[in-house]
Amino acid sequence: MQQYYNKNYRFNTKTAMSTKQKRFFLTEDEIPTQWYNIQADMVNKPLPILHPGTKQPMKAEDLYPIFAKELCHQELDQEHAWIDIPEEIRDKYKFYRSTPLVRAYGLEEALGTPAHIYFKNESVSPVGSHKLNSALAQAYYCKQDGLTNITTETGAGQWGAAMSYAAKIFGLELAVYQVKISYEQKPYRRSIMQTYGAQVTPSPSMSTRAGKDVLTKEPNNQGSLGTAISEALELAMNTPNCKYVLGSVLNHVALHQTIIGLEAEKQMEKAGEYPDIVIACFGGGSNFGGCAFPFMRHNILDGKKTRFIAAEPASCPKLTRGVFQYDFGDLSGLTPLLPMYTLGHDFMPANIHAGGLRYHGAGMIISQLMRDKMMEAVDIQQLETFEAATLFAKAEGIIPAPESSHAIAAAIREANKCKETGEEKVILFNLSGHGLIDMSAYDQYFSGSLTNYEVTDEEVQKNVAKLEQIIK
Ligand SMILES: *Cc1c(COP(=O)(O)O)cnc(C)c1O
Repeated sequence: MQQYYNKNYRFNTKTAMSTKQKRFFLTEDEIPTQWYNIQADMVNKPLPILHPGTKQPMKAEDLYPIFAKELCHQELDQEHAWIDIPEEIRDKYKFYRSTPLVRAYGLEEALGTPAHIYFKNESVSPVGSHKLNSALAQAYYCKQDGLTNITTETGAGQWGAAMSYAAKIFGLELAVYQVKISYEQKPYRRSIMQTYGAQVTPSPSMSTRAGKDVLTKEPNNQGSLGTAISEALELAMNTPNCKYVLGSVLNHVALHQTIIGLEAEKQMEKAGEYPDIVIACFGGGSNFGGCAFPFMRHNILDGKKTRFIAAEPASCPKLTRGVFQYDFGDLSGLTPLLPMYTLGHDFMPANIHAGGLRYHGAGMIISQLMRDKMMEAVDIQQLETFEAATLFAKAEGIIPAPESSHAIAAAIREANKCKETGEEKVILFNLSGHGLIDMSAYDQYFSGSLTNYEVTDEEVQKNVAKLEQIIK
């Protein structure tokens, strides 16, 4: 019989998929009013951020030149487990929260697994991803500081889109450096940012010293998050009344994202279950941390035994194959030194479609939790993520972002293990965003031109060998 489906398609091929689905919501009064700061409960705290010149630990005040004041304090707060969400931010959260928690009966049936699969659907935000949860908070605190302008970078364009909308809501001017390859490959995300009124520049650009340095050495450089961060930081430091905002990696970003897990915790309660496994895709760690930390709290404090799995791309495997080391957050070394799992700040990941996962390092909190074996990580090849994505779309009706598809693939792996063992495990994963403007990636998958990328041990070794050995 002729095959009408992709030859890599390994799953159930019956034509009708189950349409059964159950969704759990919170009332406005039930939406959490505080974020959860896991730093306060961690047994081993993250190592300090170091000044790149003096190598001395930095205090919140030392970060004031870069970020809004309150964000600097949130970044280093190892004391307060609960941080009030200002009312102005809560009001904006209500535009799209609570987001649904969904029992994925369709996916369970397609897999034939006894596992109970749930996903938290962050794709329903106006910009289509979880990024808005922190963008709104950061724009609010910048406004509180009396700033007029902010700068940032964006890879796939999700963070840029979220920040553009948040900046508009709070009346700030935003300049975005977008990694050149996505600027060209994902023109719709650029249009979205422009629609909200942001100024978008492809990076590397000639508008900063950092960009010029890259372009003189390599005129065809396609950009990376590291370079775009350098450019955005440089512009912020040279512009009056302007600060910089970042969409992932940092502690305060993961803090804001805990609204995801805190809601999910209450929603799981309504479903009468508690997760055995929590899974999220991993770029810098904000949606993973946001979804996982509120549940990990119960592992730390109440002896729960939930497993936490970060799903990263095989082409950018910082948690599974990177080293724990002090490294810069950007390419040209403008940021403080951060203790993290890293592939080296000048690592140039392959051009996979999950642009939001192409970052060289992991957040400091997550890096410490990884060292302490509080969580696990898996790396996944691009083709497997698209297999998972198309199965999920057929079973649940939502077309996932290529980033989120890593979480789906990891959830499917776990659900298939349950099929072998017959265990009815409860699996929760975060659907960080939808893929409706990533359809060209799906097209490539259908046409068979999508490929896997994996870095060699030599590449990783070569890159991390260049890092200064601060932790011996
Ligand atoms: C940015 C992004 C990610 C990765 O960022 P994290 O900080 O690791 O969460 C994942 N999914 C989507 C949809 C994104 O936009």
